[in-house]
Amino acid sequence: MTWKEDMNIKFVNPYNFISLGNECKRKSFDDYINNKELLTGYIECELENLTPIFIPNTTNENAFTDNEKYKSYDFFSYDDIHNQKRTFKYSEPVIPASEIRGVIRAAYEALTNSCMSTIDDNGVLSKRTTIPAKPGLLKKENGEWKLYKAERLMIKVKDCSIDNAQNFKNILSKYNEGDKIYFKRSKRYKNKNFMPFTVSNISNINVKDYEEGYIHFGEDFIKKHHESIFKLGEMINDIEITDEDIKKIDALITIYNDLNKDNNDTKYKKFNELLTSKDFENGRRVLPLYYSVYKKDDKSYVYFSPACIGREVFTNRLSDILKVQGGYQPCSSRENLCEACALFGFTGNGSENNALASRLRFTDAKIKNKKTRNEDYYDEICILPELASPKISATEFYLERPYDDKGKTYDMWNYDYAFNWVYQNKIEQFDKYIPKIRGRKFYWHSEKFKFVYEQNERNCKVRPLKKNNVFSFRVYFDAITEDELNKLVWTLNIGDNNNTNCHKIGRGKPIGFGTIKIRINKIIKRDISFGGDTISYVLNEYKIDLKQNRPFDYNKKNVQEFLKITDFMKAPQNINYPIGEDKTKPGKSNSVASHQWFIGNKQIGYGHKDAKIKASGTKPIIYKTLPYILDNDITLNKLYKERN
Ligand SMILES: [Zn+2]
Repeated sequence: MTWKEDMNIKFVNPYNFISLGNECKRKSFDDYINNKELLTGYIECELENLTPIFIPNTTNENAFTDNEKYKSYDFFSYDDIHNQKRTFKYSEPVIPASEIRGVIRAAYEALTNSCMSTIDDNGVLSKRTTIPAKPGLLKKENGEWKLYKAERLMIKVKDCSIDNAQNFKNILSKYNEGDKIYFKRSKRYKNKNFMPFTVSNISNINVKDYEEGYIHFGEDFIKKHHESIFKLGEMINDIEITDEDIKKIDALITIYNDLNKDNNDTKYKKFNELLTSKDFENGRRVLPLYYSVYKKDDKSYVYFSPACIGREVFTNRLSDILKVQGGYQPCSSRENLCEACALFGFTGNGSENNALASRLRFTDAKIKNKKTRNEDYYDEICILPELASPKISATEFYLERPYDDKGKTYDMWNYDYAFNWVYQNKIEQFDKYIPKIRGRKFYWHSEKFKFVYEQNERNCKVRPLKKNNVFSFRVYFDAITEDELNKLVWTLNIGDNNNTNCHKIGRGKPIGFGTIKIRINKIIKRDISFGGDTISYVLNEYKIDLKQNRPFDYNKKNVQEFLKITDFMKAPQNINYPIGEDKTKPGKSNSVASHQWFIGNKQIGYGHKDAKIKASGTKPIIYKTLPYILDNDITLNKLYKERN
């Protein structure tokens, strides 16, 4: 069975990335404003949605459904719609200021090459890995974590024609994860040298000729015929294990549980109970697990996992990567601020004396072209596709393809390391690998709406706003420089009131929702006037020639990328999440799905010209990466798997 590219079916991924520059430039807050004329006033703006938009009124999560599991929301308004059935009730739509502000800040950050202020650094990066890890036993001794090598033996819990031992399922059900057990060794599984030994008898007390081991449950090993027993081996001395490493196992279990929420998978429940128990913390219990070691800068790091082939939690966090990659981690000091943080403010690390208030205030956008009946603002109630959380594990989209000094690429890469397959399960690591993220995520515009008609627990029913509604809102500015005002104005209308460059707001961006054009109606400046003993404020119109306002360098890559991805008239026709089809399993519910594309993309031929082996399910090699915004061809092909 092989994966192939379908040259006739192409798609453009709904999102892409605006590049980061070489360096995030910062200076102290005072340096932004000292010795400059400062302007105060407001910008009167108009907002028109060119496609439907949706922003939820979260005071009612069951606006159109009775079942609590199935979420449904009406459009945002000032009405408290708590406990109301909304199907035949309508309110006047409002676009909340926070939504507009978020959109404008993200654009301003991209255009001014500012820090990535919104990265979530508490989120742990994780990814499924296919390098088999080694069995080990973890234990606290004299207050320090110690890792021991272990030998894994297989103990039968399900019918299996190869292992003729008795079925230990009922006996094992009385044991817990990590319990000590005595066993009698039988022969190797399949009688093959590289396979583990099987077990013919077990006992909870020491018996002559029996060996001592620890039980490990929940291993997806050879179709779940067997559970495992780990026999203690020698101690590993050259790896230091910290409490931080132990916390990462905990984070990993949380990720596993999140991923398996829907199938009530309690596979690692017992493992987690032991991991978080006092007895383990105090060194009275031993934890069986898998470990893999990788070296970087002459230091050894270790990954732990409950499964042999499982998920790794990376050492690098996004902010660590950004620190190395031009310093694009969020700003943390008013002495050292990027342009966006200087204007929009920042919260520092929660310490108030190191935070900075915003010099901008957005108002809610209220409807301008009022209709007599509220229902005329809205489209039919529909179902938004699953709110896919960012799949940052798709490193072929989120990270740059790495190259070594000689220009050769690698088979696989992630947030910590890159490697090539050599043979069997051997890999060669890229010593000088530095992970690089692709940039800031933006969505292409599109006019194609695709609706899923079946509601489930992961998607939601919504009532979007019809296109071509016009709103008005203001942006108040307080003591900003002329340069900042010019840049803010340009960012709001993307260079011109009458061009087709638009922002995207709210939910449903991948299916074409959210396209808005913001126009500047006028700019009002507040001047202070001195008359005798009194000081008063006068409001004067402040003129900016919107056609001549060019505060950004159009030759810069980030500006060009921004102009291309925001152009509604040039929206790609074939926006679609990746299309992959497993034709060997026709009719199965997930045989045509986006994740199939990501599976296939690592099993195409040799993947790349420098590869030493052919790509396969167990030896994946990344084939295509996400095209760049400025590429002439931004499409990818459908991938499918068929019998040879
Ligand atoms: Zn910043």
